[in-house]
Amino acid sequence: MAGSDISEFDKPIASPELPEVIAAITASRLSFVAAIHGSALGGGFELALGCDARVATMDAKLGLPEVTLGIIPGAGGTQHLPRLIPVAQAIEIAATGRRLSAAEALDLGIVDAVFADNLQDNAVTFAVNLAGRKRVLRDGDAIASSDDEIAAASAAALRRRNRPNVEQAIAMVKHALDMDVGSALKMEREIFQSLRTSSEAAALRHLFFAERQAPRVEGLKGVSRLPLHTVGVVGAGTMGSSIAIAIADAGLSVVTFDQSPAALQKANDRIAAHYSALVDKGHLDEASAGSRRARIRPASTLAEVAQTDLVLEAIIEDIDAKAELLAQLGELADEGTILATNTSYLDVDVLDGASGRSGQVVGLHFFNPAYRMKLLEIVRPAALSDPVLATALEFAKKLGKIPIVTRVGEGFVGNRIYAAYRRQCEFMLEEGALPQQIDEALEAFGMAMGPFAVGDMSGLDIAMHMRRRTAATRDTSARYVEIPDRLCEAGRLGRKTGAGYYRYPAGARKGLPDPIVDSLIAKASAEKGIERRAFSAEEIVRRAMAAIVGEADAILEEGIAQRPSDIDIALVNGFGFPAHLGGPLFWAARQDAVALAAASQEMIAMSGPGLKHGDVGRLLSRLQQHYPLG
Ligand code: NAD
Repeated sequence: MAGSDISEFDKPIASPELPEVIAAITASRLSFVAAIHGSALGGGFELALGCDARVATMDAKLGLPEVTLGIIPGAGGTQHLPRLIPVAQAIEIAATGRRLSAAEALDLGIVDAVFADNLQDNAVTFAVNLAGRKRVLRDGDAIASSDDEIAAASAAALRRRNRPNVEQAIAMVKHALDMDVGSALKMEREIFQSLRTSSEAAALRHLFFAERQAPRVEGLKGVSRLPLHTVGVVGAGTMGSSIAIAIADAGLSVVTFDQSPAALQKANDRIAAHYSALVDKGHLDEASAGSRRARIRPASTLAEVAQTDLVLEAIIEDIDAKAELLAQLGELADEGTILATNTSYLDVDVLDGASGRSGQVVGLHFFNPAYRMKLLEIVRPAALSDPVLATALEFAKKLGKIPIVTRVGEGFVGNRIYAAYRRQCEFMLEEGALPQQIDEALEAFGMAMGPFAVGDMSGLDIAMHMRRRTAATRDTSARYVEIPDRLCEAGRLGRKTGAGYYRYPAGARKGLPDPIVDSLIAKASAEKGIERRAFSAEEIVRRAMAAIVGEADAILEEGIAQRPSDIDIALVNGFGFPAHLGGPLFWAARQDAVALAAASQEMIAMSGPGLKHGDVGRLLSRLQQHYPLG
């Protein structure tokens, strides 16, 4: 039993429910040994905790991932675990959802033995040796931890995921110390049942299934994969170095190259510093850090990088530079080599054509920092061969990324939607809102960071370069907000220059509102003859969401994204959209249709001429086929 059937969580659970099964095991006069092979997660682990002993294979994985699905363990996990290991450690496991290896579980005393092979025979011998003894966890006392240890474990779990269900999981484990076990088990089940039917749990289940569906592409079944052992990265700047780390972390060898030897040296230093910091913080042991670091090797020629199974370019965002590089790689690389581009916006069909290797060029759009951000957009030019696409998907899986497959189009899925969202927020800036009001409203809605804080963090010059690049083809009748250009002209490029939409005095963790920016914005409004007015937080969120939802519809209509749920996982995993709302389209499907259509009309009217937008009515009928409506 790997775990619960999550699809069952949307409906009434069929009898017998797991607590009844576990109660029958504990009441039986026979000894039960759980023989754990593969995964024993959630309900699977709780079943094992209901047995008298647990034995496992070396590759077994154990854990209580319920909190990641918006619920808490509901079959005794919060009560049995702290009777096996100290309460603070049980909190750490039950309130983070972290997976344990068999070795760690053995070390903690959660499993009694680990076997290299013959699990079943060994488990039987183990059971025989128990000689009929029962070791029922609920009959014992919880193992105390100090108040400090409990507080530290609780705080760490909430730092990872600050949600009400995590607090409930922590409180339930603590009740192992102060409640009788029967009442605590009853209470745990009641909380589990009420959370199970909450909208937050439904949203997280939606994302769970969306992630599993995302890598599926029609017609790829049975397509052979190309070899993939070594990866070349060309361009060792911000992205090149963080992508190299992501690849080395996954156990593959990386060769890096940059046209500037100084940049390559800097990348080396950055990579070394990254791994030392992980060791210093105790996140990685010295030996693993060393072997990961050793998998990244700088090369002195492009020809050397080309001798890899997949060459990914992460050079400057310039179509001519990228096209020239791909043409060179097309000449240098072996026949079967995959050529990939990390472009954020550019036309991958053009790059495919330039390579002289049409069909072998794929977009692999990572997000910054690539070793942490889960999202990977796999961009599929029209000519892309199936084996290359299948291999790109396998590469994503090896790296532990959540891939979505997109077609070619300016900004693909994530950046395109984000640009529409940011543009709408800039409109509101010009109409009367201030950066801090907009950021606060959207952060209160659940965004990890508001758009202007994000802009300052990434650097305002990135969007400025994009605007310059597209200036010639811009619709001149379309509304254009000049505020970000003015900030850049004033040398305010964001955090890295100490000032952007906010100011960043030395040591400040968060940007501070800046009166200079307020007056720069007021001046920009006045120049356009816009009379500034007050905005409510509700209006800010309404317009920003209408912009996101409208752009998502256009993307679906153009066939850029494969399915609505891919857009949800892109925004949640790449752009800080709150997971507990299930992504923008899961959210939209649960809004009042009339109100959403009105918000869309309002957003379109306020945006002025030139706004290309989708159709909310069409979107909602599309969503009806895909999403459970709340
Ligand atoms: P960067 O300026 O930090 O790094 C670019 C590097 O490429 C520099 O070291 C430069 O010396 C090198 N370079 C330039 N031309 C080269 C050539 N012909 N051959 C070899 N090396 C060359 O840029 P970045 O932020 O790392 O962005 C790189 C790419 O990744 C861009 O396409 C960008 O759009 C994309 N991207 C960036 C981010 C981000 O947040 N920074 C996120 C996703 C994707």
